[in-house]
Amino acid sequence: MRLETLAVHAGAETDPETGAVAPPIHLSTTFRHGPAAERIAGYEYQREGNPTQDRLETALAALEGGEAALVFASGMAAIAGLLETLPGGSRVLLPDDCYSGLRYLANEFLPQRGVAADFIDMADIAGVEAAFSRPATLLWLETPSNPLMKVCDIAALARLAHANGALVAVDNTFATPVLQQPLALGADVVMHSTTKYLGGHSDVLGGALVFARRDDNHAAAMHRRHIAGAVLSPFSAWLLLRGCRSLAARMAMHCASARTLAEFLSAHPAILQVNWPGLPGHPGHAVATAQMRDYGAMLSVRVRGGREAALSVASKLRLFTNATSLGGCESLVEHRASVEGPNPVSPQDLLRISVGLEHSDDLVADWSQALAS
Ligand code: PLP
Repeated sequence: MRLETLAVHAGAETDPETGAVAPPIHLSTTFRHGPAAERIAGYEYQREGNPTQDRLETALAALEGGEAALVFASGMAAIAGLLETLPGGSRVLLPDDCYSGLRYLANEFLPQRGVAADFIDMADIAGVEAAFSRPATLLWLETPSNPLMKVCDIAALARLAHANGALVAVDNTFATPVLQQPLALGADVVMHSTTKYLGGHSDVLGGALVFARRDDNHAAAMHRRHIAGAVLSPFSAWLLLRGCRSLAARMAMHCASARTLAEFLSAHPAILQVNWPGLPGHPGHAVATAQMRDYGAMLSVRVRGGREAALSVASKLRLFTNATSLGGCESLVEHRASVEGPNPVSPQDLLRISVGLEHSDDLVADWSQALAS
């Protein structure tokens, strides 16, 4: 079945009791069992699992082509839900450009558990190979990356990691399964901040791990989620199921408008650089063309004139709201260095853009006026 069809139908069986086409939301925290805790309908307690969550996990596993999925209270809870199953003494290889929350988790919390992290340029395969000269348990990829839009070759890196006995996880938040399917390229686990495109409306926080196999890694992450408790609420699961249904259609429009805006900005004299893998001059263009169906709707730009010029442009945009996050219907812009906490790594002249679902003519006109004045 094609992805557009799966997006509409996976986990969407009509309710057997009522025939309801839209799924019911099961809010019950507890489920009746026998006197010696015998399960009757398969569920026991909401922190362990519930029917609305099961539907979402079925849908996400189908969309990513995995055997099993686990949903979490946020993207960060999903990241922690995997990294915290690694035994003490592990070493993980992380991308030098990645979501800032992952960097803080790796620098502040993993060392407390005896897990070491090295940040590597994943676009440089020889550099990654060199990093494997010391044993590593996990290779974590984020492509395209946040916020520099770096692209790395998932299939080549998965082969390298597997040859060195490491697990491969890919943050697929920016691409979504519509544009890129890391498990088919050899990854073992896909992670999502479902807060973004999967939710699609900036109104639900969530995260997910999708496993290629229903194996020990899946079992360990499921057990940890049950005990540590960072589960997704049934209402959030329901909103995310609803987001899945329109995901493919939304991504097509997001991507088309991103192309129009990226081409406009790359020809504008006030813009120093446009980071969007769909542009032929982007260093990851060839790899992105080979492993993605389209190039996504996240871009970042470096504004000529440094930090003050970037902040001035951000303040003049009218349709692009200054706000963090991405993947919603509304276009957003953000000066990343200002939101990255005490140790920002993003260039001071960089603005990250999430291209929404407004008409691209209006989006271009908004940037045109902000850059002109
Ligand atoms: N991964 C990426 C690429 C992100 O952009 C984000 C959030 O912006 C996260 C992970 C973390 O997700 P959440 O905010 O849902 O915890």
